[in-house]
Amino acid sequence: MNKIIRFTCQKCGKCCGAEVIVSYADVYRLSEDEKIREEILKKHQPRQVKGNFVYSTNSLMGLKEKYPCCFLKDNKCSIYELRPQICRIYPFLVLPDTVKPKRPYKIIATRKTSEGSLFHLAIIGLNCPGLGIGEEVDFDKLFEIGMKEYEYFKDTYHNLLLSEITACTENFVNNVK
Ligand code: SF4
Ligand code: SF4
Repeated sequence: MNKIIRFTCQKCGKCCGAEVIVSYADVYRLSEDEKIREEILKKHQPRQVKGNFVYSTNSLMGLKEKYPCCFLKDNKCSIYELRPQICRIYPFLVLPDTVKPKRPYKIIATRKTSEGSLFHLAIIGLNCPGLGIGEEVDFDKLFEIGMKEYEYFKDTYHNLLLSEITACTENFVNNVK
């Protein structure tokens, strides 16, 4: 049986004050906004971390500063509808079994898809002050939000990997739209 985890966001803004790494699915979503898309195409700055290309909300917008997130305005998210996946379920994250984040995390539940792939629900923001407070966390709901991204972009990811354009946001944005 899963352990009960409680969480209520305290709206402290700490998670928006850290570097926010985005996924390709996030870039795709952000590029729905014409203005942001233009900025991404003009200014995106991939960073290489241990051989992998990484983008953050700030590096996509051409900013050298890693934090706070450039979309935080007056302590509110200015792109709420388009916000990255991690912002939707933080301090939790849904991870395919093959992905091992470099920062400390704690797996709290696991699900297998009908195709047999293993996904974990993890606490990635171990210092989030909202943990342990209030409502019991609905694991199914978090899995649903997290998995939707992987399901929706499954074919896209696959094609991108095949065509070896994963490292280039510009190609990504231009090829999937
Ligand atoms: S998710 Fe956690 S860190 Fe982020 S604003 Fe809420 S309480 Fe603060
Ligand atoms: S995209 Fe929005 S919710 Fe996410 S870190 Fe930036 S300001 Fe916060």
